Amino acid sequence: MFTIETPVEKLVMIGPAYQNRLKKLGITTIGDLLYHLPFRYDDFSLISTIEKLQEGERVSVVGTVKKIENVYTKSRKKIQKAIVSDSTGSIDVIWYNQPFLTNILKPETTIILSGVVSSFASKLIFESPSYEMQKEKIQPLHTARFVPVYPETASVSSKWLRSRIFSLLSKFPLLVEDPLPQNIIQKYSLVPQKRALEMIHFPKNGEEARIGRRRLAFDELFFVQLRAAVRRKLWEKEQVSQPLFVNDHLAKIKQVERDLPFTLTNSQRRVLREIFADLSKTRPMNRLLVGDVGSGKTVVAAIAMYVAFLSGFQSILLAPTEILAKQHYKTIQQVLGTFIKRIELVTAETKKSVSRTASIFVGTHALLSQSLELKHLGLAVIDEQQRFGVRQRAILRLKGTYPHLLSMTATPIPRTIALTLFADLDVSFLEELPHGRSPVKTWVVPPHKRENAYAWIRNHIHESKGGNRVFIVCPFIEESQTMTEVKAAKAEFERLRTHVFPEFSLGLLHGGLNEKKRSEVLSAFRKGKYNILVSTPIIEVGIDIPTATIILIEGAERFGLSQLHQLRGRVGRGSTQSYCLLFTYGSSIIAMKRLTYLTQYSYGPKLAELDMQLRGSGEIFGLKQHGHLGLTIATIADVDLLQKARESVGELLTRDPLLSRFPLLRKKTLEDTIEEIAPD
Ligand code: ADP
Ligand code: MG
Repeated sequence: MFTIETPVEKLVMIGPAYQNRLKKLGITTIGDLLYHLPFRYDDFSLISTIEKLQEGERVSVVGTVKKIENVYTKSRKKIQKAIVSDSTGSIDVIWYNQPFLTNILKPETTIILSGVVSSFASKLIFESPSYEMQKEKIQPLHTARFVPVYPETASVSSKWLRSRIFSLLSKFPLLVEDPLPQNIIQKYSLVPQKRALEMIHFPKNGEEARIGRRRLAFDELFFVQLRAAVRRKLWEKEQVSQPLFVNDHLAKIKQVERDLPFTLTNSQRRVLREIFADLSKTRPMNRLLVGDVGSGKTVVAAIAMYVAFLSGFQSILLAPTEILAKQHYKTIQQVLGTFIKRIELVTAETKKSVSRTASIFVGTHALLSQSLELKHLGLAVIDEQQRFGVRQRAILRLKGTYPHLLSMTATPIPRTIALTLFADLDVSFLEELPHGRSPVKTWVVPPHKRENAYAWIRNHIHESKGGNRVFIVCPFIEESQTMTEVKAAKAEFERLRTHVFPEFSLGLLHGGLNEKKRSEVLSAFRKGKYNILVSTPIIEVGIDIPTATIILIEGAERFGLSQLHQLRGRVGRGSTQSYCLLFTYGSSIIAMKRLTYLTQYSYGPKLAELDMQLRGSGEIFGLKQHGHLGLTIATIADVDLLQKARESVGELLTRDPLLSRFPLLRKKTLEDTIEEIAPD
């Protein structure tokens, strides 16, 4: 009997080679394989006779192979040409570079083809259709149905995954114990877990896929919230060694505020009051500060760290990258340098020179791995918390007693959803941008205006006598940096450098560079050595270069609104008017509508909400863009489901706080949570 914990190699047909390849997709157990979900479906359920085929139709036909041969093209590539017929006619079929097909699709075999009909030399043809032998009494898997398409990796094709998952769900004795209490399943009309998996992998139609997805999305939202609730309970038992003495130091805090080159916004003041109240308690603070890009979170953190210092405690500020750590170090120096002597930067490279007993450490995760003396750690600040695992956050606990914890994020997420998803934290919102900041002027630039836009940028740089800097973000498809993207960025860089902006100096930033090199490029850009920085979308969230005033984004329609908003946040950080140019390749109406929102709104959470509405309607799966919220199936657009999950978590815990009647649920929640909380 297989369970979701059984290792994949126990399945027939998965040997060591596939075992390794699957690892690249994050699949090691049968459960991982079952939860490797399709990101779309090809609807090939329409079956037609050959006579009735029409160009452009997405369709399947059942026919007999009449002839098949390998043919060489002029460029010496092999193509496979076949003729397939049924009782009503025949059609030409071609495939590229699959010479083995002549051995599989022998003449007189009956096959099913699925694809989009196209035409060549005024004849209809099938180009690279999916194919499958027709077998009696067996429903086809890859053709003539709703066909799931999976995220792939080298040598693990969708077709292969489809077969494995299908046999797993239909042929093997597989035990999937549903962790959800029966009454919740019934109350919210969910389908059982195993049924949901069948529906999401092999739906009869779109409706079935939606029903399956709904159940799995519910699970995700349910468990995120259940764990949050448990974490909160555990947290509430924690104690700090001593509360901080905020009220004793109000005059000194005022002094720091007076020395700032700006006045704090009302939002910043309110958030500081919330933080001060927490710091004065014996229960450690666990607060999340949600603030749009450029809202000024760093200075809030700096002042909180000063309070820790005044009370005789150390504090640390943890940043996700070296580049950000250096930037924060500078900021903290500027704000607190006259009041605190011992502020240290800790990164992989500064290791040796660091004084181990400073009052404030600013750094990357090197901070956690090094034996710094943090016996008096009173406050830990984690910037861009979505980039850190819960586990890394838990390590902090090893250092000293439990410190107060302030996490910060610029994830644009509507308020109500933040409060629900982060139910284990107290959440503060910085809802106001600093004064004198005018919104970034944003335009959508269609293909025919490209040259004008370049000319405008040229002019803009000249007028500022080279003082203003420009980001050019190159297109990309996946979240990860593949070599193709790096190549695309390099090619675009060359084109821009030699043909478009030969009079300026350009830098190139991409994920193929190591962190040190990236940091060098960015600092050269900051110092003005480059006028223009060509980059893949990795330009770090949080980078603060006030002289950058233009950002040009290629292929803007491929990004989500929130992501575009984050990218746009790289400019408009000083008092100079800034601009965002969204280049498109001409695209669908819905994509254009999305981009237009960006020209109208500049408040992140508002854009997140609009994005949500747009996506909620069309898309089946959420592009994994909420992965950092612990969601891969559900999206923040599932507001209704989120509400239901929340309600059920509440009811469940009121009736059975220790989950003693639900051992499976208890196991799944508590073990994970305790593991997250307890460092190893
Ligand atoms: P984020 O919230 O995105 O981390 P930062 O903390 O990097 O934003 O701040 C963005 C910029 O705004 C910095 O240059 C900072 O000095 C400046 N800033 C912060 N607070 C204010 C304020 N109240 N008035 C004017 N400028 C401010
Ligand atoms: Mg920041």
